[in-house]
Amino acid sequence: MKKLGTKCLQAGYTPKNGEARVTPIVQSTTFFYETPEEMADLFDLKKSGYFYTRIGNPTNNVYEERLTALEGGVASLATSSGMAATTLAVLNVCEAGSNILSLSAIYGGTYNLFNVTLRRLGIDCRFFTPSATEKEIEALIDKNTKLIFAESLANPAITVPDFEMIAKICKKHGILFMVDNTLTTPIICRPFEWGANVIVHASTKYLDGHATSVGGAIVDGGNFNFLGNKRYPLFNEPDNSYHGLVFARDCGNMAFAIRARVIGMRDIGAQMAPQNAFLTCLGMETLHLRMPRHSENALAVAEVLKGHKAVEWVKYAGLPSDEYYPLAKKYFDNAYASGMIAFGIKGGIPSASKFQRALKLLAIVTHIADSRSSVLHPASTTHRQLSKEDLKKAGIPENLVRLSIGIEDKEDIIADILQALNESQK
Ligand SMILES: *Cc1c(COP(=O)(O)O)cnc(C)c1O
Repeated sequence: MKKLGTKCLQAGYTPKNGEARVTPIVQSTTFFYETPEEMADLFDLKKSGYFYTRIGNPTNNVYEERLTALEGGVASLATSSGMAATTLAVLNVCEAGSNILSLSAIYGGTYNLFNVTLRRLGIDCRFFTPSATEKEIEALIDKNTKLIFAESLANPAITVPDFEMIAKICKKHGILFMVDNTLTTPIICRPFEWGANVIVHASTKYLDGHATSVGGAIVDGGNFNFLGNKRYPLFNEPDNSYHGLVFARDCGNMAFAIRARVIGMRDIGAQMAPQNAFLTCLGMETLHLRMPRHSENALAVAEVLKGHKAVEWVKYAGLPSDEYYPLAKKYFDNAYASGMIAFGIKGGIPSASKFQRALKLLAIVTHIADSRSSVLHPASTTHRQLSKEDLKKAGIPENLVRLSIGIEDKEDIIADILQALNESQK
């Protein structure tokens, strides 16, 4: 299996003679063994196998292997949400006294995790803006820096990171490069090809694609050498809960994914429900058809918005005039930039409200990356916990309206947006 579309449909599950053609839902917390010794070996990681769904489940495993294949990684861990994926991934390398670096233009929930919750646990986050230079980023690094975090396409700032520049910094200092690939998905962008070491996903968005299941994943690129790297004592010191196991030494190139599962998931939980893994796998079967359609529809909408009299500015990385187009062209297949558009509506918050109320086809929902088109005004919803100053830092002006363009016929989407823009100025 070489091509992405084939992987979307077939990776992770090959039925044996007489077995179900479709991934079965193994809705069981527990797994049966004939002897206590076999069970003990599983607990000690001497053998691999299922014993409790918090640690692993066959349906979740199909989802994990499909995503691993699509991203070109070595192993994945299914999580209950995108936030759980990022939390477990960061805690896999950090403890009190550690720090991380992150682009400031990121998803609102992740911003709060980094800026508030992790700080309370003694993990400092040093933010840098999308325009920060190599030197400015390097100046934030010290001996306790564990990772640099970026979103492949920032939600909702619609910025694209310079993967190669960040990867170069990470390589030079022996730091892990972590990318949230939610909005581009491996159909458009494969961050491991550009130097990322760990990918996190909110499968809640395009991977599912039908708005049925909240979920996430951590994908291990298997391309980071923890062994002997002094930044990572958690990977180099013996772990007493597994009889002195040293993850960097004993788990090969899957050390990150294995530790996230047998320590992070074991202690914190936040596993995916098998039913949700099934639905997400079903969604992934059409990912390679949906992402180009989302991108083509969104480009058509962005072109209409650009130059419209009720629109002050448009951000869509697939638009050739966009500031981030050169990076999209470099890192995204066909410069496809997904269905996410941000634009500034003339008249600020009151016009944003009128615009949303006038829409008929596009729904007002918190969700994005659904097959159906939707709209959101971040400053009054997802990002309302942020202060005016933090909104600015996150690249979210008050008049920013976020569109998540679906896979309906673009003529209908455009007609709805045009009539609502008209209403917004009355
Ligand atoms: C939605 C989202 C998340 C969080 O995912 P949940 O499944 O809602 O927890 C993380 N990152 C990005 C880019 C997102 O859009």
